[in-house]
Amino acid sequence: MPADLHVWAVPLRTRFRGLTVRDGVVVRGDAGWGEFSPFWDYDEQESLAWWQAAREAADDGWPDPVRDRIPVNVTIPAVDAESAHRLVLASGGCTTAKVKVAEPGQSLSDEMARLEAVRDALGPSGAIRVDANAAWDVDTAVARLFVLDRAAGGLEYAEQPVPSVDDLAAVRRRTHVPIAADESIRQSVSLFMWNQTNALIDGYDAFSGGKMPAIHAALSPPCSVDAVSAIMIGFALSASPA
Ligand SMILES: [Mg+2]
Repeated sequence: MPADLHVWAVPLRTRFRGLTVRDGVVVRGDAGWGEFSPFWDYDEQESLAWWQAAREAADDGWPDPVRDRIPVNVTIPAVDAESAHRLVLASGGCTTAKVKVAEPGQSLSDEMARLEAVRDALGPSGAIRVDANAAWDVDTAVARLFVLDRAAGGLEYAEQPVPSVDDLAAVRRRTHVPIAADESIRQSVSLFMWNQTNALIDGYDAFSGGKMPAIHAALSPPCSVDAVSAIMIGFALSASPA
């Protein structure tokens, strides 16, 4: 157990993924700092990958950078349309927005209004993704994506609309909206299975047990990978571009 561990907790201005406080641990090693901040509903196995990623960052550091600029998306929580519009404009020029949907207690019209506001703020050339955090079943996902795609003026992709890999594949066959996997990547799923889903992968280095496993996955066809994070603090956020 490393000696240099520090616990942190940061209150969130906007409830996100059901959380009002985000917390975790930072660890210092020979190469710098690593962050261990799995969500509390993760089991031991899922959390272990995050710990490996944190130790890799602290002990080994990052590879040499291959670019000096990386475009990022603005993430829009399940807020009202006016707030969503404001967040896009305040993002500092992001041309891609990831919009949370399937929030308990909200209606389809809430989601449509949020997406219309985001499109209005981004302009016609912006890209919009939705993230349902595995909350829908297949029929609901197919029906909702048809409507939300129209409200958004076109979706770049839908992230984890349903929980299982089989269901992701089923949704993929029934909608023209591309499907991305996120939560599913925490499970031991082979790239062959991803091929069957024809899905994109959102690559959290923490889910993959570190940057090198994530880079290997990204370089393995047929996947397309966006590097993402999960409301972490700067130590872990620096892992995705690395
Ligand atoms: Mg997600």
